[in-house]
Amino acid sequence: MSETVLRLSIFAGALILFSTLEALFPRRQRNLPRQGRWLTHLGITVIDSLAVRILGPITAIATAIWAHQKGAGLFNFADWPIWFEITLAFILLDFAIYLQHVISHRVPLFWRLHKVHHTDRDLDASSAVRFHPAEIILSMIYKCGVVLIIGPAALAVLIFEICLNASAIFNHANLKLPLGLDKALRVFIVTPDMHRVHHSVIESETNKNFGFNFSIWDKLFGTYKAQPEAGHDGMIIGLSEHQSASPSQLWWSLKLPFAKTPK
Ligand SMILES: [Zn+2]
Repeated sequence: MSETVLRLSIFAGALILFSTLEALFPRRQRNLPRQGRWLTHLGITVIDSLAVRILGPITAIATAIWAHQKGAGLFNFADWPIWFEITLAFILLDFAIYLQHVISHRVPLFWRLHKVHHTDRDLDASSAVRFHPAEIILSMIYKCGVVLIIGPAALAVLIFEICLNASAIFNHANLKLPLGLDKALRVFIVTPDMHRVHHSVIESETNKNFGFNFSIWDKLFGTYKAQPEAGHDGMIIGLSEHQSASPSQLWWSLKLPFAKTPK
């Protein structure tokens, strides 16, 4: 099985699994009809997958293979067992993604792109793909840079990327987990309730819970918030200046970063 087929099957599997689970056990009522949002998110997925082709064969995995051949990157100087290298690479890559997320909120230029993700008026499994194509390209370049520095095995990068995709679908899901399970899971990983706080219109909540896989980074660096002030039913999702139906439109979402007065 090729790498692309493997990744696509796990991605589609996770999307179907969590979309079904959130339909059966929803956490919140929807603000907007599902159809328009989903069509827009489908459109974004198609455009994003075409956009990364601009980079040609440059992917995080290809970079790992290249770095290995050239002996570049920290891990290529060490002779560690593969399980240790995969574990350490996973932790370092996850930290790098946490850091990138913090930066995309703090640097105005990156926030212009990232806010497309945050304008979503509802959160569900499909929100995991709602990223502007320019942000997807920049993310890929950033990830390749990190891989060049770390020099992890290609297998480690593949495992990390598959987990990152699946966990983004999981933690954006509108899924009501039993509170005990949520509490147990979030000792280590980001749960839907934990990530939902990050999508609150209240700025002090948006600037919390940046993690995607591990919950430890937010706890370590003081960006952790357990629950939203207004509760999960009462909280408002999205950005305060975009509380209309516009975020459900594809063209509106694509041109948002280029609007004159972005926040
Ligand atoms: Zn964010």
